[in-house]
This record gives sequence, structure tokens and C-alpha cells, in this order.
Amino acid sequence: MSQQQGQHFLQIPGPSPVPERVLRAMDRQVIDHRGPEFQQLGRSVLEGCKAVFKTTRPVVIYPSSGTGAWEAAIVNTLSPGDNVLMVETGHFATLWQQMAKRWGIEVDFIPGDWRRGADPAAIEARLSDDRSHTIKAVMVVHNETSTGVTSRIAEIRKAIDQASHPALLLVDTISSLGSADYRHDEWGVDVTVSCSQKGLMLPPGLGFTAISDKALAASKTNKMPRSYWDWQEMLKPNAGGFFPYTPATNLLYGLQEAISMLLEEGLDEVFARHHKLAAATRAAVRAWGLEVLCQEPSEYSPVLTAVLMPPGHDADRFRDIVLKTYNMSLGAGLTRLSGKVFRIGHLGQCNALMLLGALTGVEMGLSLAGVPHRAGGVAAAMADLEGSGAGNSPALKLVQA
Ligand SMILES: *Cc1c(COP(=O)(O)O)cnc(C)c1O
Repeated sequence: MSQQQGQHFLQIPGPSPVPERVLRAMDRQVIDHRGPEFQQLGRSVLEGCKAVFKTTRPVVIYPSSGTGAWEAAIVNTLSPGDNVLMVETGHFATLWQQMAKRWGIEVDFIPGDWRRGADPAAIEARLSDDRSHTIKAVMVVHNETSTGVTSRIAEIRKAIDQASHPALLLVDTISSLGSADYRHDEWGVDVTVSCSQKGLMLPPGLGFTAISDKALAASKTNKMPRSYWDWQEMLKPNAGGFFPYTPATNLLYGLQEAISMLLEEGLDEVFARHHKLAAATRAAVRAWGLEVLCQEPSEYSPVLTAVLMPPGHDADRFRDIVLKTYNMSLGAGLTRLSGKVFRIGHLGQCNALMLLGALTGVEMGLSLAGVPHRAGGVAAAMADLEGSGAGNSPALKLVQA
């Protein structure tokens, strides 16, 4: 029973499926990026991004993947030989740390077991010990996409303040922006890094950095060589709605539409929807008798759920069976977790029935792959969704009135 007809279920935690509205918005002729029509688009997206990052300060948009925006954050704020504090939350935190080292940064990498987020108390202790303020930045991943653990950025901000430490706070929101509550200004973040293909529901190809006044000041005196990523080069033309080089024009049309969709639904509603879908997914995992990788309930990711395979069973073989049989892509375990976990993405345009379809594929796949589990995960997710009021849409209330 091979089900290759119908829609492919792209249930990886990014790239996430692109909504029809966004696809239609991008399906148009390329325009002159120095003309008045572009200027309107440029102004609209540069302004619209501020609402999503929750900032009044500039957001720079690069034609790049998230990795490019990581690099932009480093080269615009730090100097070779600077010390930074990072936390090993998982695969992506490890990669960002490796990149910082390649730029000649000295990284104090707080070790972690990939099952918890960055510990605010550990950060506070390191900063309190650093009396001469040699640490120039604290760099953390908000939603660690390899583990399904979301670090508590507001508490990390408090930890830095508690230590009265002047370090910059740089945060990777590559898989959380537009899916998990995030507040650049209120949480006192200096650089927020993100990209297009996860919570923002766009194809890959845009990288973002939101920049505080303090980060902008640091960029005027830091000593790192840079050209393509230089904020000053970007901010000058951005003030008029333009870019210093050819921007990804059609992706920007998509971005304009995606921002409209997020703001029409309301960011709080978007975040609440993700929480409900994540809770239902965990209900299914528990009913199957499997284990969620994240061990700290206050750090459960609203974006994805990583599920541990029972010992002796290979997660990649299971994913392969699900792909071939049910035409659904699940996320792989990365590096240390390779073969040990599979990841269910429930981000972006996902809704209750899409999630239940995905969970059905997982449950049937577990049977097919001979992975020991109990039946009834999908039913548990249904019950959880009913209990959390996921069916109580404004439309339903109208019908019932
Ligand atoms: C996907 C991801 C990245 C890498 O982004 P690319 O667009 O693949 O360069 C970095 N950090 C996190 C948390 C991610 O989820």
C-alpha cells in the first residue's frame, strides 16, 4: 500500500510547508529592485519584520540561509580574540560555536546533555565570576531544533542583569520566530538571528538579524573584517526601502504575505496554536509508551517534538519506512542523536487535522517497522486537542450561536 498520491506530509522542523497564499504571492514577474514598486515592497517588509521580532529597531534581511545570519551576528559585533559564553543545547548550538571559533573567538561552551535548555543559573554564575568583563557576548539558541527544547530567554536576560554584566545577548531564533513567543526588545536581546523557512513559512533563502542600539554601537568599533554582511552597508539603503545589492525580490513578496498571515491570525493566537499542537503530540508519544527527548516541561518546544526510539530500534529505518509507505518526511536525529530519535515538526501552517494525519502516519509506521509501542496515540492526541479547545475556532462559535 504505497500512498504517493495526494499531498506529501513535510513534517520536518523546517523547511516547513509553504502556504498557498505565500506561493501565490511569489508567483510573479521579477521587478527592478531600484524602482518605486520595489521601494514600497522594501519598506513594507522591513517595517513588517519589526512586528514579528517585536522590536522598534532595525531588522536586516539578507539573501542567505540562517547560517549566513549567524555569521552576520558574529562579524558585526565581535573582534578576533574576544571571549563569549555559549551553551551546548544541541546540534545547532554546537555548529554556531564552531563558527565562532573559526572567526577567532574564544568560546566558553557550557556542556549539556541535549535534553535541556540553557540554564540561566549557570550563565549567571559564569558572568558573576567574570569580574573584569572579558566575556563580550552570551550566545544561545532559543529553540534547539535538534532536540525540541526551548530555552528561556527572558530568564537568561534576568541572569545577565543579575550579574550586572555588560555582555551582549545574541539569540538564534531560526526555528522559533513566528512559532514560539519571542520579544526582541522586551527581553533585551541585542542580536536576534532568524531565517525564512521555518516558522515564517517561506522557502529557504532569507536570513535576518534584528539589532539593538547596543549591538549597533558595538558594530561601529569591533574589529572583525566583513563586507557582504556589514550592517552599515545594509542600513543606509534600507532607510529608503532599498538594498545595497540585488535582494531576493520574490521571496520578499512571500515574506510580505507571510507577515500578513501571522498578524491577521494574531501572534498570540499563532503561539497558542503551536502550544496546543505540541501538547497533543506529546500526549500521543506518551500513549505509545515512547519517550519525549526534552526532560524539562517548562522547556517543551512548541515547534517540534523529538521522540526517543526504544533501544535496538533504528530511527532512520523507521523514518525510511514512513516515507516510502505513507509519503511523509519526519526529521532525522542529528550527530549525537543520529538513529536514536525522530522529530515531528508541528510548526508554521500546521493545524489540528494536519497534525492528526501526521501522527496517524507515525502510529502506522511504528507498527509496520515492528517498533514496540501501544496503540492509541492518535486517539490520545484527539482527546487532548478536544480538551484544549483546539476545535473552538471563532467560526465554530458563530455556527453554534
Ligand atoms: C535550521 C537551523 C539553523 C541553520 O539554518 P540554515 O538555514 O540551514 O542555514 C540554525 N539554527 C537553528 C536553531 C536551526 O533550526
